Amino acid sequence: MGRLSTLFAPDRVAVIGATESEGAVGRAITENLQATYDGEVVAVNPNADEVLGLPCHDSVADVEDADEIDVAVVVVPPGIAVDAIREAGEAGVRNVVVITAGFGETGSEGAARERELRDVAAEYDLNLVGPNSLGVMSTPRGLNATFGNEMAQEGSVSFMSQSGAFVTAVLDWAAERDVGFKDIASLGNKAVLDEGDFVAEWGSDPGTDVILGYLEDVDEGAEFIRTAREVTRETPIVMVKSGRTDAGASAAASHTGAMAGSEEAYEAGLEQAGVLRVETVQELFDYAQILADQPLPDGDEVAIVTNAGGPGVMTTDAVGDAGLSLADFGDETLETLSESLPEEANIYNPVDVIGDAPAERFELALETVLQDDGVAMAVVVACPTAVLDFEELAEVVIDCQREYGLPIATTLMGAKSTGPAESTLNDAGVPTYFDPARAVDSLDALRRYDEIRSREHVEPETFDVDRERAREVIERGVDRGSNRLGVEAMELLDAYGIPTPEGEVVDSPGDAERVAEGIEGDVVMKIVSPDILHKSDIGGVEVGVSTDEVRDTYEDLVVRAREYQRDATIVGVQVQEMVDLDAGTETIVGTKRDPQFGPLVLFGLGGIFVEVLEDSTVRVAPVTKPEATAMIDDIESAPLLRGARGTEPVDEAAIVETIQRLSQLVTDFPSILELDVNPLVATPEGVTAVDLRLTIDQEEL
Ligand code: ADP
Ligand code: MG
Repeated sequence: MGRLSTLFAPDRVAVIGATESEGAVGRAITENLQATYDGEVVAVNPNADEVLGLPCHDSVADVEDADEIDVAVVVVPPGIAVDAIREAGEAGVRNVVVITAGFGETGSEGAARERELRDVAAEYDLNLVGPNSLGVMSTPRGLNATFGNEMAQEGSVSFMSQSGAFVTAVLDWAAERDVGFKDIASLGNKAVLDEGDFVAEWGSDPGTDVILGYLEDVDEGAEFIRTAREVTRETPIVMVKSGRTDAGASAAASHTGAMAGSEEAYEAGLEQAGVLRVETVQELFDYAQILADQPLPDGDEVAIVTNAGGPGVMTTDAVGDAGLSLADFGDETLETLSESLPEEANIYNPVDVIGDAPAERFELALETVLQDDGVAMAVVVACPTAVLDFEELAEVVIDCQREYGLPIATTLMGAKSTGPAESTLNDAGVPTYFDPARAVDSLDALRRYDEIRSREHVEPETFDVDRERAREVIERGVDRGSNRLGVEAMELLDAYGIPTPEGEVVDSPGDAERVAEGIEGDVVMKIVSPDILHKSDIGGVEVGVSTDEVRDTYEDLVVRAREYQRDATIVGVQVQEMVDLDAGTETIVGTKRDPQFGPLVLFGLGGIFVEVLEDSTVRVAPVTKPEATAMIDDIESAPLLRGARGTEPVDEAAIVETIQRLSQLVTDFPSILELDVNPLVATPEGVTAVDLRLTIDQEEL
């Protein structure tokens, strides 16, 4: 049992702010507790002697054996809430549910009050829910410490929501559909307890089979990922996406900054945490139900049994869309099917038992396909006919599911005649839908969770790097007076073992020539200025410069920089070894700091494609080797790297290592706000970082 077990299973609950006032939240909560809770309710309010038949106490301190109060629900006005909570803490109460609003959500005064609340919680080691929460529920004890108007039915799904209104909506909806819950928590402002705490609690709760969430943000991203990763080995977590705009992303100084917004961070963070992310409330509960009730599949092959051709095809399409595969039946299966089904039936997947099939024929077909080793799960699709009794069919499906132990979802394509059968199926935990795509998607949720559960968790690799030298490069750059560093800081990559071409930054034509003479073949020359973000945009990069052109090119580059911005600070010119672009592909690797998830690492197609195609993927650092490997698979242009143009495939291992090394760099240096290596040229022989740009946060130095 976790540390929040008494929050959800208290013996004694105090309502601080209990009242009889019609329409008051303090009344609604007291009534809700009185209605179903099997423990003791204690009323606290200095302005009343009795509330709804309960003796009323002036303060928590006045309650006899106050330290035996397991939960205090706080509904007093914001001005006195913190004092009331302090008093509860003082009296020995450990769990506090703060319904009171008027904290961080209301401006600076409220924010100050919320800080005070946090301090009090820390002082008394309180498990504090809210403030601005709808409350908490737990069905085994009938605990309804909310001001909603519906008590949840019993079930094995626990649900948290950052929106209180969404909790009431879900409860209302669930009441109509026999959807049950174990615990429910309205997170409110998450001043103390946040999503990670509830995930940890429910992860260790034997009564919770599935954890559901509605989140708008994640407070401690990295911590949440760590917790959720552990929990998802045993308990699936499904969360609904909440749309968030990305203000400010376009103002970013780097490509990575622009491409890795908070939405990308959220997506990556939840994925790495092993959370099944869904788009709609419908999916949230479809997934919850099937994950709670059905076993996990052993593969991704689906068998379809139907009495109607069209819906069979629709189901087949849905299988393809979900990325599942249509099972290929073995000879024995085909033989049995052909023997037991009428001649007009289709014995291949999707099996069509045809329109005149009674439930027994479904049974014959279903039993046969479920015994095939190549079948991992099944969908039964039935349309109403004069000979099909849906209730009999429901029994058949339930029996087959029990007997063969494979996950099954059903599609009963009707409404009027399917109702009782749907209830039978639901009661037995076999999901049923009108739409075959929903049945297939729900089965896919099982497959996805199985994949998450069996993920191998490896520790991030730590490479042998020269951290001191990297620190010097950053400090030297900043000492020059700018937070923006460019190719003059290439040594930073060198210090972290990321290959760079030979080269040097010089501040005179003569020195440029000297460096070029030391490099074999033609060179590349680039203007180096903190005021010039995109060098080639202003003609600040010259490729293929021969040694005798170096002096003139130097002058040209400086002139162009001055034309672009008269007072631009010019550090000098970089003279760099040429990299054979024909043999390689320009990719981008970068990092950025997300306010919720911390450092992110981006990988994508680079060079001039970067803005046009925006083909990139993001992970939260530290990035492990399997994660870095998956990043290459993620991008749509992966085939380009793998020789789609008739060229030799690039060295993917070198890309994977570069992503990991960069992940280590950005984890080691919180001062690096954004960083782009664009391009990182990938060839069959390895990778080379030919450009660098980063922004430093001086406060973190
Ligand atoms: P910026 O991104 O500021 O314009 P880069 O240093 O990335 O400047 O150079 C622009 C482009 O020039 C690169 O995308 C690449 O195509 C080419 N380039 C840069 N350096 C080299 C090099 N060392 N070898 C070959 N091509 C290069
Ligand atoms: Mg570049």
